[in-house]
Amino acid sequence: MNPIQETRRFESEIRDYFSVRHCFFVSSGRAALTLILKALHQKYPSRDEVIIPAFTCYSVPAAVEKAGLKVSLCDIDQGSLDLNFEHLKKKISKSGKSILAIVPTHLFGFPANVDQVRQLTSGKGISIVEDAAQAMGGSIGDRKLGTLGDAGFFSLGRGKAFSTIEGGIILTNNDEIGKNITKQLAQIHPGSIWETIKAMVYSFILAIFLNPRFFWFPSSLSFLKLGETFYESGFSIKKLTAFQLGLTRTWQEKLKKYNDSRILNCSFWSDFFQKNIADKLFQPVLFFPASKMPGIRYPVQVSEEYMHPILLSSNELGFGISVTYPDAINNINDLTGRFKDETYPMAARMAKQLITLPVHGFVTQKDRAAIKTMIFKIFTERQAQIKENENNRR
Ligand SMILES: *Cc1c(COP(=O)(O)O)cnc(C)c1O
Repeated sequence: MNPIQETRRFESEIRDYFSVRHCFFVSSGRAALTLILKALHQKYPSRDEVIIPAFTCYSVPAAVEKAGLKVSLCDIDQGSLDLNFEHLKKKISKSGKSILAIVPTHLFGFPANVDQVRQLTSGKGISIVEDAAQAMGGSIGDRKLGTLGDAGFFSLGRGKAFSTIEGGIILTNNDEIGKNITKQLAQIHPGSIWETIKAMVYSFILAIFLNPRFFWFPSSLSFLKLGETFYESGFSIKKLTAFQLGLTRTWQEKLKKYNDSRILNCSFWSDFFQKNIADKLFQPVLFFPASKMPGIRYPVQVSEEYMHPILLSSNELGFGISVTYPDAINNINDLTGRFKDETYPMAARMAKQLITLPVHGFVTQKDRAAIKTMIFKIFTERQAQIKENENNRR
C-alpha cells in the first residue's frame, strides 16, 4: 500500500463525491475539528469563542480546548435536538464580536438547520463549522451534509456512518482555510515505524471485534472500554495511516449499503412510535419522525420510569439499545467552574431521557419484532399499573 497514492485516490473520490475544493484526512473527528478551529483563529485572531451544543459528543469541547479556544454553550431544542435558535440569537447579540465559530451538529445523522445559523451570522464575521461527524452520506435534498458550512468534518471512528476504526475527514471550499490546514498538516511528522506497527495491530484487533455483528454483544466487549464517554483533551493529531486509507477502498458502495439499511430501520422505528401514538396505545415523551434519513442511531425520549426497564431488558437480551451522552457539557467534571451559573435544561434532560435504538444493517426483522414487543410491553404494563394505582386510591 503506497500511502501517497492511497491518499490521492481517496482525495479525488471525496472531492468528486462532495464537490468540494479541499479535503484532508486525519486521525479522528476531534483532530479534524481542532485543525479547522486553529485555521479559523489564525484568520480571525481577535475572536476566541466557539459555540457548541450543550448536548453533544464530549470530544467536541475537547477539540475546542485543544485548539486553545473558549467553549461556549447553546442549549438544544427538544423537538429537533438542533441548537435552540432563540438562545443562539441572544448569544450572538451579546458577544458577537468575540465569537469565532458556531458548530451546528447533525446529531445521530439527523440534519441540523445550518441555513438558519447562516442567517443569524451573516455579515458578522462568525464562521460555521459543520459537525457532520455522524452524518457522512446524509443530505438535505441534493445538498450533502458536511458541505453546508464554511468547513465541515466527518468522523471515521467506531460506530459512525463509515469507519476506519479511527479517523476524520475535513471538507472546505474556503481556500484560505484549506491553505492553512495544508500548512498545519505539513508540520505533523509521521510516527516511528514502531508507532505505525502498533497502530496497525490495534486497528486489526478492533477491525475483528468491531464488526457490527458484535454490537449486539456490547457486554462481551467491555474489556475494550467501548461506548464509555469521557472527557479527554490530550489527544494527538495525526494523519490517517496507510492501513486506514486502505480500508476506505470502495467506501462509496459500502456507505450506500449501510445508509440504505439505516434509512429503512429509522423509518421502521418512526412508524412504530407514530402508530402506537395514533392508536393511543402508548406515548414516549418524544419520538423523531424520520423518513429517508440515514441516522446512525434512532433517538427516542422516554421518561426515567420507562428508560430503566427498557435498558435493563435490552442488556439482558442483547438488543443494543443504549443511552447517549452521560450529561450536558456544562456538567462535565473536568470543566466545572467554567460554566458557573449557566444552566442548559434541555441538554440536561436529554442526557437523562434519551435512548437510542440500533439501525445498522445487522438488525434483522426478528430483532426488530423482539425489540418492538419488549418496548410495547414495558410501556403498556407500566401504564396499566399506574391506572390501577389510581383506581385503588379512589
Ligand atoms: C464522534 C463524534 C465526534 C468526534 O469524532 P472522533 O472521531 O470520535 O474524534 C464529534 N462530534 C460528534 C457529534 C461525534 O459523534
